[in-house]
Amino acid sequence: MIVIMSRDSSEKEVNEILERLKGLGLSGHLSSGVERAVIGVVGKVYPELKDNLELMPGVEEVIPISRPYKLSSREFQPRDTIVKVGDVSIGGDELVVIAGPCAVETTEQVVSTAKAVKAAGATVFRGGAFKPSTSPYQFRGLGEDGLKMLSEARAETGLPLITEVLTPGDVDLIAKYADIIQVGARNMQNFILLDEVGRTRKPVMLKRGISATIQEWLLSAEYILAQGNRQVILCERGIRTFETYTRNTFDLSAIPIIEKLSHLPIIADPSHGTGKWYLVPPMALAAVAAGADGVMIEVHPNPDMALKDGAQSLTFENFQGLMSKIVLVAAAVGKKVRVPSKV
Ligand code: PEP
Ligand code: MN
Repeated sequence: MIVIMSRDSSEKEVNEILERLKGLGLSGHLSSGVERAVIGVVGKVYPELKDNLELMPGVEEVIPISRPYKLSSREFQPRDTIVKVGDVSIGGDELVVIAGPCAVETTEQVVSTAKAVKAAGATVFRGGAFKPSTSPYQFRGLGEDGLKMLSEARAETGLPLITEVLTPGDVDLIAKYADIIQVGARNMQNFILLDEVGRTRKPVMLKRGISATIQEWLLSAEYILAQGNRQVILCERGIRTFETYTRNTFDLSAIPIIEKLSHLPIIADPSHGTGKWYLVPPMALAAVAAGADGVMIEVHPNPDMALKDGAQSLTFENFQGLMSKIVLVAAAVGKKVRVPSKV
């Protein structure tokens, strides 16, 4: 349930509610809006609690939340969450473009890619140092050496970094290097990992599980939020269906659905969503048109030689071509893109 405080309620009255909830073994999550404070109540509530809380000073109304996810729901927080990473805002009227290779291979590879994607208008750099692989014989990443290479790319370009964490034990290490921690599709329901990234105060991008429903995905976000980390970003990356032409079926409709159900930002990843480089631009543009807060695109200096996901990676030139179209679609749906004038 959510407790809606009246406009003129005091801080003392808000604290009294939080104390009361604590005494009942429930957790209260405060969202201080411009107009009024709202407290999300999480835990097993007894039927009379609604009436009891409504009698407390400063309370205007108590509304049960029918959905199983609470803190991620629009009912709990009607206004959009905006995640700030350096001077990049994710979830507002800015369209964020995250780009970079699937996997970190060499310093040269990441630095040249970071420079190229920045010149084309990307505002966040991606690259995996710890790679989840379907087969144990595939490239599994360079580990901490890869994180150091990513740091060089950040130092050269100033672009903030997003990189994936695979295990709870690596969260502190990843948090040391990354500006945004990525939880991959295969780990969407690794609940211990979700708890652990929820305990950090770094932004977390949670990718949709390979076969996850939207509700399961939001419940996974709930794990991170329930630990007190409010900086959660969702990422649609395609789901498993009977179709085999594409690597995954990119669920475009998930974008407006998330926008309706949740206040969290939503990023589209058409690279993993399609698995084919020539399908990436049209689906990226479609995602922007559908209202995505950003896109994440895999880019490689030489996709044919990439150690991972070359088939879905764009060349520098193709990425630049996509950016010039993204600017037009973003403008049509009222989103701003920071694109250098030469594109
Ligand atoms: C990735 O972003 O490189 C990745 C492994 O994605 P996913 O978890 O969506 O497969
Ligand atoms: Mn990849």
